[in-house]
Amino acid sequence: MKAITLREGKERSLLRRHPWVFQGSIDKGKADPGETVRVLSCDGRFLAWAAYSPSSMIRVRAWSFDEAERIDASFFEKRIARAVALRGRLAIDSDGVRLIHGEADGLPGLIVDRYADTLSAQFLSAGTERWKDVIADLLVKTTGVPRLYERSDSGVRELEGLEAKTGWLRGSGDTAVTIREHGWQLTLDVAQGHKTGYYLDQRDNRKRFADWVKQLGCKTVLNCYSYTGGFSVAALAGGAEQVVSIDSSAAALARADAHVKLNGFDASRHQSLDADVNATLRQHLKDGRSFDAIVLDPPKFAPTASHAERASRAYKDINRLALKLLAPGGLLLTFSCSGGIGAELFHKIVAGAGMDAEVDGYLIARLEAAPDHPTTIAFPEGEYLKGLAILKR
Ligand code: SAH
Repeated sequence: MKAITLREGKERSLLRRHPWVFQGSIDKGKADPGETVRVLSCDGRFLAWAAYSPSSMIRVRAWSFDEAERIDASFFEKRIARAVALRGRLAIDSDGVRLIHGEADGLPGLIVDRYADTLSAQFLSAGTERWKDVIADLLVKTTGVPRLYERSDSGVRELEGLEAKTGWLRGSGDTAVTIREHGWQLTLDVAQGHKTGYYLDQRDNRKRFADWVKQLGCKTVLNCYSYTGGFSVAALAGGAEQVVSIDSSAAALARADAHVKLNGFDASRHQSLDADVNATLRQHLKDGRSFDAIVLDPPKFAPTASHAERASRAYKDINRLALKLLAPGGLLLTFSCSGGIGAELFHKIVAGAGMDAEVDGYLIARLEAAPDHPTTIAFPEGEYLKGLAILKR
């Protein structure tokens, strides 16, 4: 077994069970992509078993902090079983579930979502790439789900020196799948959809939105960055009379229209707008329109903290426009899925937007990713989705 020795003082994060070691923390040692290495402190103490990634800034990702543990098929079987068991204990009202959420499940770089009879996975690190075959067999065996599609086409693979790969790893057939979320039917395509096919992290927020729309009696709803209209279906289910979905993807909007019909809502209650959100909000403001509820769920404006300043301005701008467009007493659900923007900073950005819009509001809830996308105590970086539910004064 090859050993990687850290520089003096650099053992601290592994001792706190944080799974990453950056390139600059390593004193000596090398291995092949994804190879299991023994990570040692400068004085030779065992710290972790880890996967080595020669071209990544995150040079080492820990598999285990237990020296007695062997990194083999039975290790992966235990980790996968533990992750799947956790989801079994959470009351998830859907057959679309994130089964493995990378670092939080002790499997750095592995994302696995279950969509009814199909698994969709991303192998995003050299370590998961190396163990792919073993992991694929175990996923099928542990879950009893026969089909596994690979969506390793995320940009982060490049940072690991891995090329994009997609296709069936186990099973085959139609890549279109229908899931049932809170009793709603939602369709997706594991080959074509964003990420692994859908945004499961917003599941619980979609339900809460439906409940608020109903309770507050929201009639007109603007769903910005709608993707395939999950929040639009929620709004219709909550009794909204007119719902507009805005997205820059025509394919996503076509699916949003199909979702309205599939769930038995009259098509006249929903409109799809293939447009830029920022420009549309400005135009609506000029036209003097207003809405009882607005959802802002933009893509990641700040992938890392270094993008935070520019992203802050972009978040502030859309939130300012949305707060102005909201009818008095209206509901704003505003999100950021940027890892580089923390919850506190996001609140400040929205506060700034309120100042500029000359609008105040009541924060009725703080929102986060559904619990099948867990954060662990040791890895706070895993927290990415944050949102605020605001009632305009
Ligand atoms: N709320 C959705 C997920 C949104 S993902 C859900 O619950 O499923 C973000 C979406 O923003 C993507 O569908 C992407 O196509 C869209 N998008 C990105 N930039 C945009 C822009 N400038 N204007 C409109 N839509 C945009």
